[in-house]
Amino acid sequence: MREEAAAIAGEIAELRHDIHREPEIGYELPRTQRKVLAALDGLPLEITLGTALTSVTAVLRGGRPGPAVLLRGDMDALPVTEATGVPFASRIDGVMHACGHDLHTAMLAGAARLLAARQPDIPGSVIFMFQPAEEGGGGAKLMIGEGVLGAAGGPPVAAYALHVFSDMLGCGVFAARPGPALAASDAIDVTVRGRGGHASVPYRGLDPVPAACEMVTALQAMVTRRFDVFDPVVITVGSFHAGTARNVIPDEAAFHATARSYSPQSRERLRDETLRLVRNIAQAHGLTAEARFVEGYPVTVNDPAEAAFATATAAEIFGAGRAIIPAQPLTGAEDFSFVLGEVPGAFIMLGACPPGTDPRTAPSNHSAAAVFDDAALADGATLYAELALRRLARR
Ligand SMILES: [Zn+2]
Ligand SMILES: [Zn+2]
Repeated sequence: MREEAAAIAGEIAELRHDIHREPEIGYELPRTQRKVLAALDGLPLEITLGTALTSVTAVLRGGRPGPAVLLRGDMDALPVTEATGVPFASRIDGVMHACGHDLHTAMLAGAARLLAARQPDIPGSVIFMFQPAEEGGGGAKLMIGEGVLGAAGGPPVAAYALHVFSDMLGCGVFAARPGPALAASDAIDVTVRGRGGHASVPYRGLDPVPAACEMVTALQAMVTRRFDVFDPVVITVGSFHAGTARNVIPDEAAFHATARSYSPQSRERLRDETLRLVRNIAQAHGLTAEARFVEGYPVTVNDPAEAAFATATAAEIFGAGRAIIPAQPLTGAEDFSFVLGEVPGAFIMLGACPPGTDPRTAPSNHSAAAVFDDAALADGATLYAELALRRLARR
């Protein structure tokens, strides 16, 4: 498989560069969708396009009977102005493939080529899930709603996603851990309402600013006093707004936070405790607070057996030094979590920082300077294909 992947490495890189030059954001990725369809053209695939989003679901039915395995690659870019200087840099102002999803799309199309060549011998089906709107839009959830999990008939027995990283891991190193791999990511929106007035006579109004400030610090105390250190949570208030002038007490103050957690229990407690804390602080000061906890992506939980299978497969193909089990999950979030909520599987990290770069100091994913090396492409396509083949052979 590695040799076959090496033979098409140039084409995979070309597709990646083509997608990288014209990045698109969100649910509607018409150009990217066209490029994927062109790359899959002529292969023995059953293709369905999304209706609520420009997804591509391709099913390869093997020549022998068996269950289905799902492989996912996300396709969307970010609102970032590229500053990498690579020859295939983005030509679209303010849009960049800064999370490496261009590599995922190209690797998945490559895997489709590799597997299609073995179609008669495959004992079952492979579902290729080309997904828009990973970056905040929950495209995976929409694709599940449109039937991606049933595309081959019954539900898949396993699902795998590869994700490249421009830092953290050495180039070509695969990593998957059992259990939580990424955090749940939720939003907290708070508006504290008081009564504005002249800043010189605060006792005649109801100043929302000190109460809102108290909430921000109390939330940090809550994180350390109310949550198990071995089931950690993170709250960051990234936006805080109140007032228009130094001598005016505003009617309201508002802030927005992101909340990360690693278990359904702590996620639920995070919601309950946050809302209670914020509302009661407002009440203590004679104010009211409108507080919302908006669920984003759930915890990405790797099935222990599937994660072990993924790292063992990578170690067998590429050598033991290229497969590791990270001690800790990441604090980022992924909507592949919705797939893993339905199907056992694994989210597998792949180091793609360029040679000569120190992964500890390289610009990270989402940075305007993040560079992902083409060297990861053939190996990523190989692993996708091998995971599907071996998992189907095992049943
Ligand atoms: Zn990202
Ligand atoms: Zn990503």
